[in-house]
Amino acid sequence: MKYVVILLVLLALGVGYYIVQKKKTSSSSDPLRTTSSNVISMDSHRKAKQSPGEQPCSSCKKKNGKLIFYAQDNGTVVGLCKDCQSKAKKRDMLPL
Ligand SMILES: [Zn+2]
Repeated sequence: MKYVVILLVLLALGVGYYIVQKKKTSSSSDPLRTTSSNVISMDSHRKAKQSPGEQPCSSCKKKNGKLIFYAQDNGTVVGLCKDCQSKAKKRDMLPL
């Protein structure tokens, strides 16, 4: 019977330890802070996504708004403006 009691005590300690650890992890991660950091990362991500629009077209070198990126046969990637998209389609280039 002694072994059963020891086993039960160990089990209780294990469960207690598990609950304490769970409480620690949930309380340490401030929900407000995590959401604010997520917003910041999203903003920087949006800014990074907007920057390709400022790049000149690989074909006509004009800053013609948003570029669409195509993969060439030799593996290089080119950014083409709206005017040059028809050329890319004729050459069977794959939009990325
Ligand atoms: Zn162009």
